[in-house]
Amino acid sequence: MKITALTTYLVAPRWCFLRIDTDEGITGWGEPVVEGRAQTVAAAVAELADYLVGKDPMSIEAHWQALTKGGFYRGGPILSSAVAGIDQALWDITGKALGVPVWQLLGGAVRERIRVYSWIGGDRPDDVAAAALERKSQGFTAIKMNASAELDPIDTPRATTAIADRVAAVRTAVGDEFDIAVDFHGRLSVAMARRVLPLLEPHLPLFVEEPLVPEVSDRIGEITSATAIPIATSERLY
Ligand SMILES: [Mg+2]
Repeated sequence: MKITALTTYLVAPRWCFLRIDTDEGITGWGEPVVEGRAQTVAAAVAELADYLVGKDPMSIEAHWQALTKGGFYRGGPILSSAVAGIDQALWDITGKALGVPVWQLLGGAVRERIRVYSWIGGDRPDDVAAAALERKSQGFTAIKMNASAELDPIDTPRATTAIADRVAAVRTAVGDEFDIAVDFHGRLSVAMARRVLPLLEPHLPLFVEEPLVPEVSDRIGEITSATAIPIATSERLY
């Protein structure tokens, strides 16, 4: 089997999908996209297609190594997302060729069910408590929310306590048999993170996500040692 073509599809408002065709009629689908850069990633896929066309689609690992490490310039959100979408499509082709689901090829099922949370925003609209209650009524057992808009490196006491107040409002609304996760999108400085996270502890967040921008990931230990709240990171690490 040989790869014959890679075709990307831009879908509003912000998605990009990839179809890889083969000479045996099997096609695979992937999603090569990073938020806000769909056309840029599609261009990267088109450039990587030169290497892939004519090759065996089932040599997935070899292609991943070549596409990831074979270039002089490597990594970053654009190239990594392009390679990820290609990787998905090659796994899809391989699963179809062998007649098994991809999860079977990756080691088999680990669990029957998976718990999910629902995103409720909270950047600027303050009505997060109502939004959390609505998700609870839909059957969710957890939400994830913003607890602030953009912040100064050392913001005012009012802006600082407002973060905890917003989480407290949700906790009061949903009760204790429900989880609240808070995503900061890297909006906290190290100083603010050390100041803010202890204020959230009484509300027992499930986790706090991305308190710092990835450029200061080496300082994440200062945050985990300053709070008992579990810290989630790496959304923007490639
Ligand atoms: Mg996030």
